[in-house]
Order: sequence, then C-alpha cells, then structure tokens
Amino acid sequence: MATSSTSIDWRARAASARFDGRAFIGGERRAARDGQTFDKRSPIDGRALGPVARGQAADIDAAVAAARAAFDDGRWAKRAPAQRKRTLLAFADRILAAKDELALLETLDMGKPIQHALAVDGPSAARCIAWYAEAVDKIYDEIAPTAPSALALIQREPMGVIGAIVPWNYPMIMAAWKLGPALAAGNSVVLKPSEKSPYTALRLAELALEAGLPPGVFNVVPGYGHEAGEALALHSDVDAIGFTGSTRVGRKMLEYASRSNLKRVYNELGGKSAFVVFPDFKDLERCAKTLAGSMFFNQGESCNAPSRLLVHASIADDFARRVAAEASKYRPADPLDAKTTMGALVDEGQLGTVLGYIDAGREEGATVLAGGTQARADSGGYYVEPTVFDGVRNDMKIAREEIFGPVVSVIRFDNEAEAIRLANDSTYGLQASVWSSQIDRAHRVARALRAGTVHVNQYDEDDLTVPFGGYKQSGNGRDKSLHAFDKYTELKTTWLRVDAQ
Ligand code: NAD
Repeated sequence: MATSSTSIDWRARAASARFDGRAFIGGERRAARDGQTFDKRSPIDGRALGPVARGQAADIDAAVAAARAAFDDGRWAKRAPAQRKRTLLAFADRILAAKDELALLETLDMGKPIQHALAVDGPSAARCIAWYAEAVDKIYDEIAPTAPSALALIQREPMGVIGAIVPWNYPMIMAAWKLGPALAAGNSVVLKPSEKSPYTALRLAELALEAGLPPGVFNVVPGYGHEAGEALALHSDVDAIGFTGSTRVGRKMLEYASRSNLKRVYNELGGKSAFVVFPDFKDLERCAKTLAGSMFFNQGESCNAPSRLLVHASIADDFARRVAAEASKYRPADPLDAKTTMGALVDEGQLGTVLGYIDAGREEGATVLAGGTQARADSGGYYVEPTVFDGVRNDMKIAREEIFGPVVSVIRFDNEAEAIRLANDSTYGLQASVWSSQIDRAHRVARALRAGTVHVNQYDEDDLTVPFGGYKQSGNGRDKSLHAFDKYTELKTTWLRVDAQ
C-alpha cells in the first residue's frame, strides 16, 4: 500500500538519505575532471549533505561536446515531435513517481518546507515538462503569402546546444521552465544548477535517461557561478543561454555573449514588485492575507514577491496592522515537519544579506511592525522572522533593492497618479498588482504599470499557459507558455521556385 506523504517521518528519511553530487555528462555520472569537490551543507541545521563535483571549464567542455554530438547526429532533434512527446511524458511521470525523494532533496538542499516541496515543486516541474511535451506535436509552421512563382516555408528549427543556468529558490521548477521548451523543441541542454541547490537537477537528469531521453541530450554540471557558470556562458559551441538569477549576474551573461560567439541570452532576473491598495477595495482582509501569503511563501525568496506595499494614506495604518497580524502567522520552523509553512533561508550568506537590509531599514528611519530578527539560531540553520516595515519611502534602500527574504515595506501614497509613479519608480518590472473595486481605476492602473505581469484584485493566479518574465532590468524573453519556444528555436525561411507549366 502506498504511504501517505503526510504520514512519512521526514526526519528519519533525511537521516538516511543519500546524496550523489557527481556531474551527469553523456548519460553517466562523472566526478569533476580534476577530482575537486565542494561541501554542501543543509540550511536547515548546517548538516553536511555530501561532496558535490566542482565543475570547471574542462567539465563544461565535456558536457557541451556530449550535447553537441547528440544534437548533430539527430538522436533527439530529428525524432518526430510525437516521439519526443512520448519520451518527455515518460520523464514527467518519473518525476511524479519520485516526488517524495525529490521533495526531500529540495528541502534539505535549500530549506523550504517539505509540504511545499511535495505539493508545489515536484508536481509543477512534472507539469511543465508534460505541458511542453503535449504542445510540441500541435504547433504548425507557416507558408508565406508570396506570389505563385514561389513557395516560402517559414519553419522553426531547434537551435542546438542550450546552456541553462538557474538559481536555488525553486531549483526544479526553474530547471523545468528551461528544459520543457528546450528539449521539446529538439535541443540538447547543459544545465548548471546553483551551487546552493545541486541535487535535484542531477536526479532529474537520471530520471530523464531512464525515461528514454538519449544520452548526451541532457547534461548537468554542478559548480560555482564564476567557474562552471562562466565557462558555460562563455562557451563558443553553446547557441543560447537561458539564465534565471540576479540582475547583477544577468548583466554578465550579456558580457560573456559579446566576448564569445554572440549566443542568444535570455535573462529572467530580479524584482521589487509593487502591490498597490486603493481605499475603495472592499475586502481588505483577503487583500492582507494574499499579500502575506505571496510575500512570505518560500521564505520571501521569490523573484515576484510583492515586497513594496503601496497603500493609500487613508487606510495605511489599519492595513499595515492587518499585514503585521498576518505575518505573525508565518512562524519559521523545522522544514522537515510536515506542518511547517516557513522554512530556512538558503545559507549563511543570504541570512547576513537579509539581516543587513533589516538593519538598513531601521537606520533609514523605517519602523518594524513585525519580525525584524533572526529566529531559531540554536538550530544551526538560517531563519528570519517575517518582517513588516512601516513608514518606508520609495527612495530608501529597502524599497529600491531586491532583498530576497521575508521583508515587506509599507509605502504610503495620496492619490492614483502618485501610486502609479511610485510603483513604476523602480529599476525592476517583473510583476505588480492593483487592488480596487472600481473597474475603471483597476483597468487604468493595470495599464499604467510597467511590469511583465499585472494582477488585479489577486496575486495567486499562475499557469503554464501564460508567459513569465519582466520589463526593464527584470530581464528579457519569457519563460512558460508557447512564447518560450521562441527562445530555443531559430526561424528559418526556405524559398522554393515554382515554375509555370
Ligand atoms: P545568482 O545570480 O547569484 O545565481 C544564479 C545562477 O547563476 C547560479 O547558478 C549561479 O551559480 C550562477 N552564477 C553566479 N555568478 C555567475 C557568473 N559570474 N557567471 C555565470 N554564472 C554565474 O542568483 P541566485 O542568488 O541564485 O538567485 C536569486 C535571484 O534569482 C534573484 O535575483 C531572483 O529574483 C532571481 N530569480 C528570477 C526569476 C525570474 O523568473 N525572473 C525566478 C527565480 C529567481
């Protein structure tokens, strides 16, 4: 009989879990060429999880060569889309079948609550792979409306070797957002997971091979950004980089492309999303709950976390109090406890960054309404209380920079024009939301907000059918939806002459 996930003793499983940090190249596990490893510790309690291969340029060369050979001989790229679909659906099934194991690896690796890793991360990654699998044999190419003397075919072709470089906050989902469209379109992939969360990416590659993906089509090289990541982004036999991470490193991706082969670069970067609440919105309780849920889910380590709360001055005191009350319901606790809703920050560095921003907020004169301190310090892990700052000005550091932790800033406005100006006064433009019960206002403000996604009177909707990505320094290109195929395919025109009889 199958064991219910909630009845599993996750601590016992964690104690006996095995971790294989070797790279996955050409369909097999390999140590780094020079044998180097780095230590991976769990942010939950600092326990050592096991050594991870420290990939360098030589390992990236081997992975890119394997990917290129697989692409050139057509073992995957030249399969009919319906065949690729079957293999990728089998891959998605294997992810689901391994969801307990993958969830445990994800939680131990980056500190999120096990219940979220189980319910969200594995299933979402599987759904993403399956969605692109299902899509790929239903997309038609085009014939241009040319003169009758010619036939012009406009076709999408796989690009070749895709380098995917991803962060640690949703390791499996971020990988799947690249793998789904890139593999379905027929490309080969070299994935560089974050050094802070390498294990699930490596398991995904094994599961893909078991599902029938030919060796060499999907390779994973763990390692540091400035070593394996840089080598991959600089590699002249990589045709495109799908990058998700910080704006700081996204800038480097463009440099690497210009210094090497002008590979395409698709950047999905940081955010400082505005959540704009007007006094006419009728259900402030739901609004406050939604803000807290979206802000503190995943310990605030979400690119689209609504970290700037813009609220009309007439309701600001009341609304800020409601948000602080909601925040206090998110208590950092042991991520391996199935009831926990808020886990550990990814590492000591991230803990220091978040606490540093909290200090900066206090120094600049903002008031802490909730949280503001480290939690569970005696656990050996890295926890911070959900934190609400009131009295924030949009020019303060905590309002301008992405904190990537559980810290929200309450900023007041007096009228609609000021709300729009403040919301758009950011170098980022990933997401935004407007809360108003007046339909004209809701539409007007939604139109004026400069962000890749705007939510109206909610912040929870998400689906693979819609594109995800940002305006301004939140990036270019879009993950998810059919638009993601644009990133991993080339558009080819073939002219054929048609002679009159
Ligand atoms: P990061 O930029 O530090 O690292 C991301 C990846 O890049 C990692 O794999 C890292 O090893 C690699 N890297 C680092 N330096 C590199 C270099 N010099 N050359 C090549 N690769 C390098 O980001 P992070 O801390 O892992 O993730 C958090 C960031 O990701 C936040 O800014 C967050 O907003 C962003 N993010 C964006 C989205 C989105 O879809 N827009 C989604 C999730 C996370």
